[in-house]
Parts: sequence; structure tokens; C-alpha cells
Amino acid sequence: MKHIVCGHCAAINRLPAARISDRAKCGKCGGVIFEGKPVDLNSQTFARHVSRSDIPVVVDFWADWCGPCKVMAPAFAQAAGELEPAPQLTAWIRKFAA
Ligand SMILES: [Zn+2]
Repeated sequence: MKHIVCGHCAAINRLPAARISDRAKCGKCGGVIFEGKPVDLNSQTFARHVSRSDIPVVVDFWADWCGPCKVMAPAFAQAAGELEPAPQLTAWIRKFAA
């Protein structure tokens, strides 16, 4: 079992590792847990994802005034689409506005 924090409601879900790639839904809000796109975080949800998830979390710290951040955004979204979900999941893409 893996503890996975929902990107929609930040509830902690317990999922068998084999179900991670089955478009598993959150037990609290019913949202698909891995949608293959970055999830926007705030200071509360960032702490929850980083401290309570049993899987590595990849975080893009960005600012809307930063040109290089905006240039990287499409590549970051593409990486999320390619990495999520995967049975051998090694990363979960998240965005955090600095
Ligand atoms: Zn949820």
C-alpha cells in the first residue's frame, strides 16, 4: 500500500501499488488521482504532498513574473503527461507558486 495525497482535495488515499496506474479515484472527492498534468499547490497542500506521500514528488517552484519559468511550463506539463500514472511511478509532478 502506498499513501497518495489527492491533487484535488489533499485527502490521503491508501492505494495498492498495482492500482496506481488504473486511474484510481480519490476516496473522499472522487477525483482521478493521477491526471497526467501538474497540480497547483499552495503552502498547505505543498506540505501535505511532500510530507505525507509515499512516492517521490517533483516540484516546480515558479513565479508568474519569471520568464524562464514560463518557458519551462510546457515541458513540465509534458513530463507530467509522460510520467503519470506509471506502475513504476518514481515521480509526481506538482507546481508551487513562489
Ligand atoms: Zn480527493
